[in-house]
Amino acid sequence: MSCERVIIIGGGISGLCSALILQKIGINVKVFEQEDAPCTSETGMILGGNALKALDYIGVGDRIRKTAISSNNCTILSESGKTIVDFSYHSRHDFSNFLFILHQDFYKILADSLDSETLHYAKKLVHFKQSKHNIQLSFLDGTTIETDYLIACDGCYSFIRSQLSSSNIAISNQTYWQGLLEVDEDISDLGYSETWGPRGRFGIAPMPNKKLYWYAVKNSDGKKDPYEKWASLDLLFNFFSYHEPIQLILEKVKDENIIRKELVELKPLQQYLYGRVLLLGDSAHIVPSHLGQGASQAIEDAMYLAMCMKSGKPFHESLIKYERQRLIRTKTVSTEMKRLQSIAQIDKPALCSIRNHFLKLVPASFHENKLKGLLDIQLIG
Ligand SMILES: Cc1cc2nc3c(=O)[nH]c(=O)nc-3n(C[C@H](O)[C@H](O)[C@H](O)COP(=O)(O)OP(=O)(O)OC[C@H]3O[C@@H](n4cnc5c(N)ncnc54)[C@H](O)[C@@H]3O)c2cc1C
Repeated sequence: MSCERVIIIGGGISGLCSALILQKIGINVKVFEQEDAPCTSETGMILGGNALKALDYIGVGDRIRKTAISSNNCTILSESGKTIVDFSYHSRHDFSNFLFILHQDFYKILADSLDSETLHYAKKLVHFKQSKHNIQLSFLDGTTIETDYLIACDGCYSFIRSQLSSSNIAISNQTYWQGLLEVDEDISDLGYSETWGPRGRFGIAPMPNKKLYWYAVKNSDGKKDPYEKWASLDLLFNFFSYHEPIQLILEKVKDENIIRKELVELKPLQQYLYGRVLLLGDSAHIVPSHLGQGASQAIEDAMYLAMCMKSGKPFHESLIKYERQRLIRTKTVSTEMKRLQSIAQIDKPALCSIRNHFLKLVPASFHENKLKGLLDIQLIG
């Protein structure tokens, strides 16, 4: 196997998945993460079946399955609770379409599966310089290191991308709230649903350990963070006309358990490979996280990277092959998810009614084909 040294900056999902898979195929890899300790974010994640297939390839699929809840359906409801669309697809393969997992559990499985001495915390990259033969990296703690290749997994606000490309992230005019709620009974049978209405989008998914994951998304109409001061009571008032159990959930939510984010977007890049530096995960593409596709694309990236490496080509050629394939796939998924987002976020009551009516007329086979293209990924040689 190749004796190139690879350094990954960022110990998030894409960094850990890439490190795991590169390690598995015998590449000398190290991960440097700016945070002092492992991620302890108390939230849930919805992953697509394509991520599960990639996680199997990476070698952690079984552990993830045991820790997660899975389902084949995502039901879209109107604010009164009537079904608008049922996104369901029955793959020929034995893969669930959606997977619900606690963020913390997911990180722990990935980090624990790495060889010791691979993942280093409290290492913030502050400078890098590439030459024809290698790259020099400098960290905030004053240390430096040399590597043959650098994989940038430093997320949507990527410092590395900012040094290589003029493309910048932009605020996407959407605010996202999320949280976990303890429930009394086992809710693993509860479906995954999203309610679309003029007052925003509200999602519910079951999580392991009798937890329920909820999220809400609202348009901010070009204003700078208009919901900055919103608390749980504001969300309760906002969604007052929506069907149950949305009201019940929001009545139980505590302010300190709400995570709020202004979403960002990035115009599709024309390249992911800049000399000896490869952008991967959210540093390369920010895919709107519909149908669990945000992180799922980052996980797919890792799988495709390994598949290209295994093709027997020299290291650099493998990266070129990877870039060619991923530019097409991530652009396609991103475009699909943006289209879905623009339909989901319609907030004019009359247009919502027209949308709901129209979507009910669309044959199920249309959605099934879309999901097939999204979730049923092919392994390449
Ligand atoms: C509100 C919200 C909800 C989401 N929900 C879902 C979901 O349910 N399902 C889904 O599939 N996707 C979801 N996503 C998308 C998903 O979170 C991302 O696609 C995914 O986390 C990308 O992983 P990443 O590793 O590329 O980036 P990140 O997870 O952002 O990781 C980047 C890492 O790099 C580190 N880093 C940054 N700069 C430096 C530096 N200079 N030096 C060292 N380390 C550095 C950071 O500390 C971080 O740990 C959601 C996104 C948001 C915003």
